[in-house]
Amino acid sequence: MAGALDGQVAVVTGGSRGIGRACALELAKHGAAIVINYNANAEAANSCKAEIEAMGGKALTVQADVSSADDAKRLIDAAIAEFGKVDILVNNAGINRDRTIARMSADEWDTVIATDLSSAFYTTAAVVPGMRERNYGRIINMSSIIGQMGNVGQANYSAAKAGLIAFTKTAAKELARNQITVNVVCPGFVETEMVGALSDEVKTAVLANIPLGRFGTAEEIAACVRFLC
Ligand code: NAP
Repeated sequence: MAGALDGQVAVVTGGSRGIGRACALELAKHGAAIVINYNANAEAANSCKAEIEAMGGKALTVQADVSSADDAKRLIDAAIAEFGKVDILVNNAGINRDRTIARMSADEWDTVIATDLSSAFYTTAAVVPGMRERNYGRIINMSSIIGQMGNVGQANYSAAKAGLIAFTKTAAKELARNQITVNVVCPGFVETEMVGALSDEVKTAVLANIPLGRFGTAEEIAACVRFLC
């Protein structure tokens, strides 16, 4: 297996399922060694690792709840311990806890902000010293079209995703002098378990506003991430 990312090491948070898994496989296909982070589902992470190894690639799975600063640091430390460095960081892990503002609990707000926004700060802060030393890095943050548009029932999610866009712009400005690029991807609705959980009624309403008449695929988003690397 030879590719444009040969010799590089990529950490993909939430790399076990959905968009993150597609990113992990795509970057591995192009030669990067992959650190597959997951939170709860070890089986999915192990199957992603097996798929990469079957292609002749290298992969490591690391359980870490990236909404915790300590876990996020432990994830990056584990990547460096195994592969010596991190060249690429894909901040993809995300959850939703949808409810209208009047019904949303403080815990639902805090959990989504911590998982979808603070996590990117924690992991980025942990990879930056090494990237600066090597004067090279690629950081890609997974926001959402909801961070640009807002959506009923997603005050927590839309605020986190909008925050991620602003975080990316600042990080890009701070880190450009070290040849580290920081980009954000804002997918529309993508066919994954996250969207699979929506009711048929909501899916039909969403599809009515998509000119192509279909959801995106995780592979389409992964191709964009690979381009940014
Ligand atoms: P998904 O299928 O639900 O997968 C989520 C992934 O994140 C899983 O690997 C999960 O691991 C991991 N994860 C969740 N909480 C975590 C935590 N605290 N620490 C570490 N890992 C955690 O989601 P997806 O649809 O692929 O979405 C991926 C990203 O794209 C998210 O940031 C999402 O907001 C964004 N996005 C999705 C869509 C869409 O339509 N699907 C659209 C725009 C943006 P475990 O299974 O181990 O928990």
